[in-house]
Amino acid sequence: MTSGKQYVDSVFEKVKAQNGHEAEFLQAVEEVFDSLVPVFDKYPKYIEENLLERLVEPERIVSFRVPWVDDKGQVQVNRGFRVQFSSAIGPYKGGLRFHPSVNQSIIKFLGFEQIFKNSLTGLPIGGGKGGSNFDPKGKSDNEIMRFCQSFMTELSKHIGADTDVPAGDIGVGGREIGYLYGQYKRLRNEYTGVLTGKGLTYGGSLTRTEATGYGVVYFAEQMLKSKGEDFNGKTAIVSGSGNVAIYAIQKLHSLGAKVVACSDSSGYIYDEEGINVDTLKQLKEVERARIVQYLEHHPNAHFTPAGPDSSIWTVKADLAFPCATQNELNDADARALVGNGVIAVAEGANMPSTLEAIEVFHASGVLFGPAKAANAGGVAVSALEMSQNSQRLAWSFEEVDAKLYDIMKGIYENAAAAAKEFDAEGNLVVGANIAGFLKVAEAMSAQGIV
Ligand code: NDP
Repeated sequence: MTSGKQYVDSVFEKVKAQNGHEAEFLQAVEEVFDSLVPVFDKYPKYIEENLLERLVEPERIVSFRVPWVDDKGQVQVNRGFRVQFSSAIGPYKGGLRFHPSVNQSIIKFLGFEQIFKNSLTGLPIGGGKGGSNFDPKGKSDNEIMRFCQSFMTELSKHIGADTDVPAGDIGVGGREIGYLYGQYKRLRNEYTGVLTGKGLTYGGSLTRTEATGYGVVYFAEQMLKSKGEDFNGKTAIVSGSGNVAIYAIQKLHSLGAKVVACSDSSGYIYDEEGINVDTLKQLKEVERARIVQYLEHHPNAHFTPAGPDSSIWTVKADLAFPCATQNELNDADARALVGNGVIAVAEGANMPSTLEAIEVFHASGVLFGPAKAANAGGVAVSALEMSQNSQRLAWSFEEVDAKLYDIMKGIYENAAAAAKEFDAEGNLVVGANIAGFLKVAEAMSAQGIV
């Protein structure tokens, strides 16, 4: 009989042979596959159904041309993607990323992770992701609008409220969702919840803007509680200064921690007095400024430019929240954090820690909350936005926030319990992967070979 390890290894070899050039995708797959070996030992029928090989192949990938005209009247062309990875437990759901680094590998890694994350929320949503190599930095509002309209003209053929419901991600915030939604409505002549992260005047949910940042802090709270700890008096580092970072910082401050450092791709700020969230929101949400401009408001803070010898992770703190982008925290960074006495790391970004960094945290006994569990708050509230749209109702901030809190607590408990059941107590990477996988596997198994 084939063992779990033999089966998982053989599928991984095939995935490598077919996707060898997709480094980020392979990294995400390897992390999940490593965790699933004991599941296949326990449920050999999933080997017979070749469930893993089916799951790791996206149901559909759409890649398309996005032509648009810039303010100088010149025609520009970008590449758009939508990966519809798994619809086993609900309509495809996952954000859109606009960043020059976007390629098929990055969208596939994000879509693959999204399957497990969405399953962990306990809500009926499948896994998908999309985006473009378009760079919104420095573009005028009109350029952003023309790009979004062109992008949606093609995307609208592939999505729908019961088919696939995209949301925001890096480079796609409230402004972009508004333009995308306007174009969808115009093309389809229907007012449905086809996107989440919408503005509050046209079907958005209260707490969606805050959800990922608040959620990662609620998750970390549960991690700390398991060791009899809380946020009071603790210092923290939060990388990034976008949507996830800003609201993680806000929630950490409200729960008694002090965030002393945050960043953007040009460098990081250290503010001994604690990062001022109002300043950060003004700079990033209103002025779309660079992080160095924080010093104009808080001259006692320090700015360190990005470079090979500079890392936000060398700042001394009790807690670390990587909330910028993938692979932003490597093994040297992890060792620096451990050397400075970090006790917990929770991932707000997707796959921010390399596999080697995660090994360092586990070997050092640092509490580690992996992205697919810790940052699931955003997609969870997106699913709540879909519910409100279907009901044609709007719930209060407190109601949605309370549901978010319960969902994050539930994810922590499920991941911790799965880790324990499969002999990996305390390892939330293994726990989250297994807990997320089991629901999808059961649904796939019930639905036959599709
Ligand atoms: P934003 O675009 O709002 O902010 C991204 C932040 O990360 C910016 O400060 C940006 O700096 C920084 N950043 C991006 N790329 C790099 C890089 N290569 N090096 C250093 N810094 C970088 O995105 P979000 O806050 O929405 O997303 C952040 C992360 O969280 C992503 O991994 C995303 O997938 C994940 N996530 C987001 C969710 C959401 O609800 N928004 C839900 C779940 C996960 P700069 O402006 O200089 O580029």
